[in-house]
Amino acid sequence: MGKGSILIVDDAPESRILLRRMLAGCGYGAIYEADGAAAVFAFFGLDADGGGEPLDHLDLDLILLDIVMPGLDGIEVCRRLKGVEVLRDIPIIMVTAANTDSNLRAVFEIGAMDYLHKPVKRVELCARVKSALRLKEEMDRRLALTRELEQANQRLRRMAMVDGLTGIANRRCFDEFLDREWRRCQRDGWSIAVCLADIDFFKLYNDIYGHLQGDDVLKQVAALFQQAVNRPGDLVARFGGEEFVFVLSGADAEGAGRIAQRAMDLVAGAAIPHLHSPVSEYLTVCFGVSATTPRPGTYPRLLLDCADKALYDAKQTRGNRVVTLLPSADDSR
Ligand code: GH3
Ligand code: MG
Ligand code: MG
Repeated sequence: MGKGSILIVDDAPESRILLRRMLAGCGYGAIYEADGAAAVFAFFGLDADGGGEPLDHLDLDLILLDIVMPGLDGIEVCRRLKGVEVLRDIPIIMVTAANTDSNLRAVFEIGAMDYLHKPVKRVELCARVKSALRLKEEMDRRLALTRELEQANQRLRRMAMVDGLTGIANRRCFDEFLDREWRRCQRDGWSIAVCLADIDFFKLYNDIYGHLQGDDVLKQVAALFQQAVNRPGDLVARFGGEEFVFVLSGADAEGAGRIAQRAMDLVAGAAIPHLHSPVSEYLTVCFGVSATTPRPGTYPRLLLDCADKALYDAKQTRGNRVVTLLPSADDSR
C-alpha cells in the first residue's frame, strides 16, 4: 500500500461507492473497502473479535469509519484498533448520520482523529482527509527520525564501551564494571579478583615486526584472554596499550591465579613468534593477580594497586609468570 492509502468502512454499499468516488475525484487512488467490523479485522489480519497479531508491513494511512453498523459499531471497532500497538497511530475519521453529543464525546474519547457528518460533502471530506494524511505523514517522519536517533544512540553507547582495536571492553567499561561488582560483592560478602596482564617485550615486538603486526597480536591476545575466563559474569577488558585486565566476581586469589595461568598457557599455546624476546622464542605475557572480599569503606583502587604491584614483581624477573599479592589487613582507602 502506498502513501495516501485509505480504508473505507461502511455497511451500506452506496455509502462506500459515494465516498470512493469523492476520494477518487480528489486524486486518491489507493482505496480499500470493508463492510463491517469482521471485514476490518480481516483486512488487518486480526481475529474475528479484533484480537491476535496483525499482518506485518501494514502501511495504511487513514480509516474512514462508519459508526452505525450491524454487529460491532464503529466506536467499538475504533476502540479495538486503538488497542493494537502497530495500528494505534493510523488516524481514524468517524463518519455518521447519528449526530448526537454522546456520539461526539465517545468518538474523541476513544482516540478518533476527526468526525464527519452524513451526508458527506465532497469539499469537507477532501479537506479533512488531506489534513489527516498530512498529519500522519509528519508523525511517520518523526517516528522514523526517533528510531534512527535511538539506533545511533545505541551504537554510540556500544562504541563508548568497546575498545576500537580489539573489540573487547575498554577502560571506561572496566572502571564502571569494577565499581559495580565491587559494591555487589561487598553487599553479598563475596570475594572479587582482578588479574592485570601485560605483554612482555612488546615494544621490541613492534620494533621488529612493525606496529600493524603488533596490532594483530593485541587482537589475538584479547581473543585468547576471552577464552581463558569461563563465567558469563567475568569481564576481560583492554586496560591500555598492551595491558589487559580481568574482573572475576566471586573468585578468590587461588581461582583467579588459575585463570591467569590458563590465559598465559593459551598465549604460549598460540606460539606467536617473538624471536628477539629474551625469555622465549614466542610471545609471552605476565600477570599480577589480587583478590579480596570488599569491606565497607574500601574502594576497588585497593585491589587494582595490589594487582599492579604484583605485576611489577612479575616484570622484575622478565615476565612470563603469574604473581599473586593480597591486600594486607590494614590496607583501606
Ligand atoms: P615489558 O616487558 O616491560 O612490559 O616491556 P614492553 O616493551 O612490553 O613495555 P613498554 O611499556 O616499554 O612498551 C609498551 C609497548 O606497547 C610500546 C607501545 O608501542 C606498545 N603499544 C601500546 N599500544 C599499542 C597498540 O595499540 N598497538 C601496538 N602495535 N603497540 C602498542
Ligand atoms: Mg606495559
Ligand atoms: Mg609490556
